[in-house]
Amino acid sequence: MSNGGNAAEIASDALVLFGVSGDLAYKKIFPALYAMCKDGTLTVPVIGVASSTWSVEQLRARARKSIEHDGKVSDQGALDRMLSLLRYVSGNYNDPATFTAIGQALGDAQRPAHYLAIPPSLFATVIRGLGAARLAKNARVIVEKPFGRDLASARELNRVAREVFPEDSIFRIDHFLGKEAIMNILYFRFANAFLEPIWNRNYVASVQITLAEKFGVEGRGSFYESAGCLRDVVENHLFQIVALLAMEPPSSRSFGAVHSEKASVFEAMRALQADDLVRGQYAGYRDEANVARDSDVETYCALRLHIDSWRWEGVPWYLRSGKMLPATTSEVLVQFKPPPQRLFADSAPVDGHANYLRFQLSPHSSIALAARVKHPGKDFIGEQRELQLVEEQTNEDTPYQRLLADAMCGAGALFAREDAVEAAWAVVDPVLENHHPVSIYQPGSWGPQAGDALIADDGGWHKPAEEG
Ligand code: NDP
Repeated sequence: MSNGGNAAEIASDALVLFGVSGDLAYKKIFPALYAMCKDGTLTVPVIGVASSTWSVEQLRARARKSIEHDGKVSDQGALDRMLSLLRYVSGNYNDPATFTAIGQALGDAQRPAHYLAIPPSLFATVIRGLGAARLAKNARVIVEKPFGRDLASARELNRVAREVFPEDSIFRIDHFLGKEAIMNILYFRFANAFLEPIWNRNYVASVQITLAEKFGVEGRGSFYESAGCLRDVVENHLFQIVALLAMEPPSSRSFGAVHSEKASVFEAMRALQADDLVRGQYAGYRDEANVARDSDVETYCALRLHIDSWRWEGVPWYLRSGKMLPATTSEVLVQFKPPPQRLFADSAPVDGHANYLRFQLSPHSSIALAARVKHPGKDFIGEQRELQLVEEQTNEDTPYQRLLADAMCGAGALFAREDAVEAAWAVVDPVLENHHPVSIYQPGSWGPQAGDALIADDGGWHKPAEEG
C-alpha cells in the first residue's frame, strides 16, 4: 500500500507556519522541524507568521529554546540548519497586507505548504486570505484540529477550504493517525488472515477503548471551556481508532480506498442519544484559571456506540476518555464471546473476561492475545494468559514529524478526508448540546460511577497497563 504521494515530483518548496509564536509551535512543531532537518526531509525555507512584532532573531531564539529545553540537541548542525531556514512575517490574519508580505517572503517558491497552527476561529479567515492573495496556487494547506466544532461548522469550513484548495491539497491533521501504534492497527488487521473469520458480530462480544490522562487542563482552561472531552479527543482520535478497527477491507491498495472504508464506518454509526453518553468533571476543574465557576464542560466522557453494519450489528463499542484519571495510558480491548458450551467449570468467563485481543497504544505499544491454558495436574482448571505479539518501545518519529513530511510531499494517507470528518460530526451532533449534566469525580479515580455502569453488562472496563 503506498502512502499516496510522490515526493520526487510534488514536494512543497516552502513551509508557511501560521501561529509560529504559539504553544503548539513551541511544544511540537519546532521539535518536528528539527527532526526533519536531522533526517534531511526539511531543506526548504520556513516562513513563520504571527502578530507578535518579533525580529527573525527573536523567532530563532524561541525555536532554539524549544529544542534545547529538554536537552534534546543531539545534532548541532541540524539545529543550525533549521534556524537558518526560518524567516518571519509579523501581521494580523485579518489584514490583506499580511498575505502580501508572505508572498514577498516566499520569493521564488512556487508550491508552498501553508500550516494553520492557529486558533480554529481563524482557519477560514486565513484560507480566504491565501486565496485572495493568490498564494493557494499549486499550494497545500495543513489544518490543525479541531476541524469544526459541530456538523454545521465542519461543513462550512470544508466549503471554504474547497473553494480555495482541491481536496487532495487539504491535509486535516489528526495527529493520532501518525502514531506508530495506531498505524499498526491497520497493518495488523489486514496483514493477518486469521483475524478475518472472527472479526465480526459472531465472535466479538464488545469493543472498548480507553484514553486516559493523569493530568488536568494544565493552564489551557480557556481552550478546554470551548471544547470539552467529547470534542477534544473522542469525536476525532477515538473515532479514528474505531474506524480502523471496524472498517471493511479496502478494495485496492490505494489509501483512497482506506479513506472510503473509514468514511463508511462513520456513516454506519448510529447517531448518539443523551443516554449513550456519560459526562464527568474532575473536582477542582472549576477552580482552574479561565474556567467558569459553574462550568458544565466535561473532562471525562464515556459512551456506547453502535455500528449498524452487516459485520457489527449488535456489538456495542464503549469509548472513554478523561483527565485526572489514575494513569496516562491508552488501550483497545476486543472482547471475544465465551465458548458456546461450558465443558470445564472455569471455561466460561470467570473474572468477567473471555478471550480478548488487546492493543496497548501508550505508554508502550503492544498487542496481546488472551487465551485460557490448563494448569498442570489432574483437574481441568486453567487460567487466562496473554500471548504477547508485540512489545515495543520504538524510537519512532514523532507524529508531527511524520505528518508534516507527508503533507509536504502530498501524501494524504494519514490525514482525515472531508466526507469522513462530516460523517463523524453527524454521529455526535445530537449530543453536543442535548446531554445530561456532568457528574463530579475525584482526581485519581476512574471517573464517575455512571461511566462504570454504562459497561457493567459487558464485563466492565479493563484496567489498562499504567505508566511506570
Ligand atoms: P496559541 O493561542 O498558543 O497560538 C496561536 C497563534 O496564532 C499565535 O502564534 C498567535 O500569534 C497567532 N494568532 C492568533 N490570532 C492572530 C491574528 N489575528 N493574527 C495573527 N496571528 C494570530 O494556540 P496553540 O498553539 O495552542 O494552538 C494552535 C492550533 O493547534 C489550534 O488549532 C489548536 O487547536 C491546535 N492544537 C494545539 C495543541 C496544543 O497543545 N497547544 C494540541 C493539538 C492541537 P501572537 O501570539 O503573536 O498574536
